[in-house]
Amino acid sequence: MRILMASAEASPFAKTGGLADVTSSLSKALDKRGHEVALILPKYLMVDRGGIKTEPIDLPLLTPISGQERTGWIHRAVLPGSNCQVYLVTNDHYYNRNGLYGENGRDYPDNLERFVFFCRAVLELMRSDEFVPDILHCHDWQAALLPAYLRSDFDSILKVAGGVRSVFTTHNIAFQGFFPRDQFETTGLSWNLFTPDGVEYYGDLNLMKSGLVYSDAVTTVSERYAAEIMTPEYGCGLESVVASVRDRLHGILNGVDYDLWNPETDSLIPANYSRDNLSGKAQCKAALQKELDLPTNPEIPLLGSIGRFDRQKGLDLIAEILEDLLLRGEVQFVILGSGDPEIERQFQRLQERFPDSLRVRIGLDEALAHGIQAGVDMFLMPSRFEPCGLAQLYSLKYGTVPIVRMTGGLADTIRDFNEAQKDGYGFVFNKAEGKELLHAVERAISVYRDKTAWEALMKRGMACDFSWDASAKRYERLYRTLLGEE
Ligand code: ADP
Repeated sequence: MRILMASAEASPFAKTGGLADVTSSLSKALDKRGHEVALILPKYLMVDRGGIKTEPIDLPLLTPISGQERTGWIHRAVLPGSNCQVYLVTNDHYYNRNGLYGENGRDYPDNLERFVFFCRAVLELMRSDEFVPDILHCHDWQAALLPAYLRSDFDSILKVAGGVRSVFTTHNIAFQGFFPRDQFETTGLSWNLFTPDGVEYYGDLNLMKSGLVYSDAVTTVSERYAAEIMTPEYGCGLESVVASVRDRLHGILNGVDYDLWNPETDSLIPANYSRDNLSGKAQCKAALQKELDLPTNPEIPLLGSIGRFDRQKGLDLIAEILEDLLLRGEVQFVILGSGDPEIERQFQRLQERFPDSLRVRIGLDEALAHGIQAGVDMFLMPSRFEPCGLAQLYSLKYGTVPIVRMTGGLADTIRDFNEAQKDGYGFVFNKAEGKELLHAVERAISVYRDKTAWEALMKRGMACDFSWDASAKRYERLYRTLLGEE
């Protein structure tokens, strides 16, 4: 099959979170299974800063948007470790900026235009001979208009070609791509689609609705999240739309690219180690303490957290318990992330109060993320909601014990430690409350003090297999069904 992944992010080209890891590693997994896979994303400044070599192809873009001709072109690169082509949509006016979607906690005001241009470039690529897919797999709101373009009379050439089937994946239904009604004409779509059954949401434009309503199949990234987003608690206002497409909704768990996230081979960590020889993990912990200028102490539990500073991630719960934990002097803590400036300031203030035990690193730092996964003993993910979550899966592989809230993909992937049965490989708590998180951390610390029990717990986690094998097969089956091959 020929599969085109349209996404705003793909590792290592441009990443703000798990979306980037998923689009790349799923593409690689499908490529390994013998399919012809290409990715397309905008060529942001971040792509240039990453120093990846790209070459322009002969495909000039000329797109009228809101009465103005917008021009651009497409570059090509190869996804490292695969045969997948990566197409990069270039337009300096739209993408030559410091952020992907915004800066200083504020979205760019022309985001609709930026991603309409992107979607139109995807259509241009499909109309050329460069890459004509059987399946167009669109990810999140930034690519969500594509199924509407394919369904409408917008592009008669593609409509006549007719064969392409679309899949839409929502990686996080909290980010829907909302724009005021008066920007609808930017899309170039007919007003016929601007109805409650289409892309209208209470008078405004909702891009995610386009993906949900007009695609041939909808997926999300864990079984549990698929069920959750049909409820008012998790559906972020789209629960009834999701419920209306339940017959073509599939929850498919994300996988991990163990070529990149494996302590046996990871070149970004100071010492490699495996389930059979854990000595390198102690070295990684010592090196991390040194790098962070924390007291080098192998005995003290070192806790970590990495992620977007967003209410979703439950960082306020961490902030709530940190003082209590750190005052006892029993743990060290490292936090890496960026996002909400108020959360950044809150953690920085806490760091000033606990200079010997807390380190807060603001920014995106891939190498430090690997160093933390390898160097800490426990990884906290107290998310309010979590569609799948990758960080806890990386933790497992690195012998770092995850402490998570029972929601979405966290609930689907982490089994709570059971002392009596010597079972489970993490600590799971229920309610999004500081005291529940604190209790889970205290449980973890008490097991940590029993070296034998802790090592067994680590090893059970390291033995888990969350590779793409099973999930890539599920996507493949879905694509085949859409093409009438199964
Ligand atoms: P989400 O997609 O909601 O952000 P996931 O757990 O699915 O959460 O994926 C997060 C990914 O982003 C992981 O690969 C994690 O290591 C990475 N990440 C998040 N914040 C940072 C950061 N500040 N620096 C480096 N990597 C980060």
